[in-house]
Amino acid sequence: MKLAILGSCASQPGPGEACSGYLVSSGDTHVMLDCGSGTLGPLQRHVSLEDLRAIVVSHLHPDHYIDLVALRYGRTYGVAGARSIDVYLPPGGIAHLERVAAALSSTTPFWDGALTLHEYEPGVPLALGALTVRPHEVRHGIRSFGMRVDDRERVLAYTSDTVPCEELATLAEGAHTLLAEATLAGGAPSHHDPATHLSAHDAAKVAARAGVERLVLTHFWYTANRALAVAEASDSFSGNVQAAGTGRCFDV
Ligand SMILES: [Zn+2]
Ligand SMILES: [Zn+2]
Repeated sequence: MKLAILGSCASQPGPGEACSGYLVSSGDTHVMLDCGSGTLGPLQRHVSLEDLRAIVVSHLHPDHYIDLVALRYGRTYGVAGARSIDVYLPPGGIAHLERVAAALSSTTPFWDGALTLHEYEPGVPLALGALTVRPHEVRHGIRSFGMRVDDRERVLAYTSDTVPCEELATLAEGAHTLLAEATLAGGAPSHHDPATHLSAHDAAKVAARAGVERLVLTHFWYTANRALAVAEASDSFSGNVQAAGTGRCFDV
């Protein structure tokens, strides 16, 4: 299983760096986790849109889904006969995207023909070709779902956005690679009170408890010092620690 980073910023893109988006691939199956601002460009360096099996959205903050709007316009006005792409949203996600559509356009239906919208349920696995994606609810300002991705050989756990919580232990247990948000790392401002995110230290504690081989930190504030974030995590986790960045690829 391969993990390609399409973007790794929180809230807004940084210089040359998109918001949240990750491509997970096993064999011919390619699934995009999150579709934040600026991720569609990097995505197409790895896979054609025609070969993308599905997009799974962790939660309904715009830095995790707003490029669905761009994708809808591209599919609608682009290649004739382009197939509709399956998008799996959290509970309530279809109504949310219909409200977004209503604010943007008088065209109804807005999404049909470009994207096929589905909603997943917590704990109910999505069978997507060679990959199985299981949403695990975590704790954030709104409902948020970490994803456990399995290709029967390797397991990737992705935290989504979350505070430290017991659910993260279940999400990461037995995973080989943990892709963890570290918004409060590398000198980032503590802009929420109470915090709704993880520090590098928090992410490292989850990695150590789960015994993962590799921790990949992501969802950095755009001004964060990523090398410092890696050093912060390495204080609490003795395994391999990496900072995500657009274009970086990892073997899960
Ligand atoms: Zn976010
Ligand atoms: Zn969020």
